[in-house]
Amino acid sequence: MRQPDFSSSRLTVEIDLTHPGRRSGSFGLVWSDNTNPLGVWPIPAMVIVGSPGPTVLLIGGVHGDEYEGPAALARLYQALAPEEVTGRLIFLPALNLPAVRAGTRCSPLDGGNLNRMFPGLADGGPTAQIAHLVAACLMPICDAVIDLHNGGTASWFLPCALPARAADGGLDAANMALARAFGTGVAWLLGAANDNRSVNGAATAAGVPCIAAELGGGGSIGIAPLALAETGLRRVLVHLGVLPGALPETPPPRLVELTGPASRVVAPVEGLFLPERPAGRDIAAGERLGRIVAPERPDDPPVDIIARTTGLILAETRRAAVRPGAFLALIATDVR
Ligand SMILES: [Zn+2]
Repeated sequence: MRQPDFSSSRLTVEIDLTHPGRRSGSFGLVWSDNTNPLGVWPIPAMVIVGSPGPTVLLIGGVHGDEYEGPAALARLYQALAPEEVTGRLIFLPALNLPAVRAGTRCSPLDGGNLNRMFPGLADGGPTAQIAHLVAACLMPICDAVIDLHNGGTASWFLPCALPARAADGGLDAANMALARAFGTGVAWLLGAANDNRSVNGAATAAGVPCIAAELGGGGSIGIAPLALAETGLRRVLVHLGVLPGALPETPPPRLVELTGPASRVVAPVEGLFLPERPAGRDIAAGERLGRIVAPERPDDPPVDIIARTTGLILAETRRAAVRPGAFLALIATDVR
């Protein structure tokens, strides 16, 4: 079992990740500003060290308004005993703690979107320091990384696993195997168009197998997405040999990807968006996704929102009032 080297990080280490057992602690983000002068943001961490085996890093709360991940990780930690675990599980259920406390996507300290900050910076702002801790100190000791997301308060995502494509064939296959094990039925492949400043991007750069997952959203905890998160985590841990058992045979997931600007549907005008096709349904190029109406201009005709590409509606907005450029939907294309 590899041991972490935290010497390059500015965060304080308030947890023992080495010795057998099950314990909680934190990484202390020291950041003095008007919100918490001279104080510390204790980023929660838990670990279960069992018998020798792989180390798996389980992450939630990269975005502060996405709640199934933090909830599923807390429940998994409480449910597992070290005797059941072959290897080591490291839990970071509220990684961007300032954002989680605020219930916002980005950090209230510096506006940072943690999933656009990797590989981070040891001497950077608070969000960059958190990214650096994960990329530089924790990923090197890990055999796999799982990063749980959802659509946040602004949108809702069809539950899916997100493996990144990798130039290394072995890593590519390992990512796909994690996605299949997670068992959501749909896998959103992160190809060349993906932003590589994410947890997935950092893991790919480090050569560590990784999936993210999208699990609903809308600012609350969905019963079905939470169950999917918990089942998916356990399935992945069985796949990795960390938990005992064998996975039942499941069909391979439907593979989709974003292919270009037409995959992202945004509002052309201001008004109220009236959706007509929900996430999870298919749509063909030329078909109507919804309409935008302007309540204060009742004589204006509605503006049709027409799909520019054919595929699966992967995500939908949860905001009715939109302005030009506002996100409405993602349409993902089947990978042939
Ligand atoms: Zn997210």
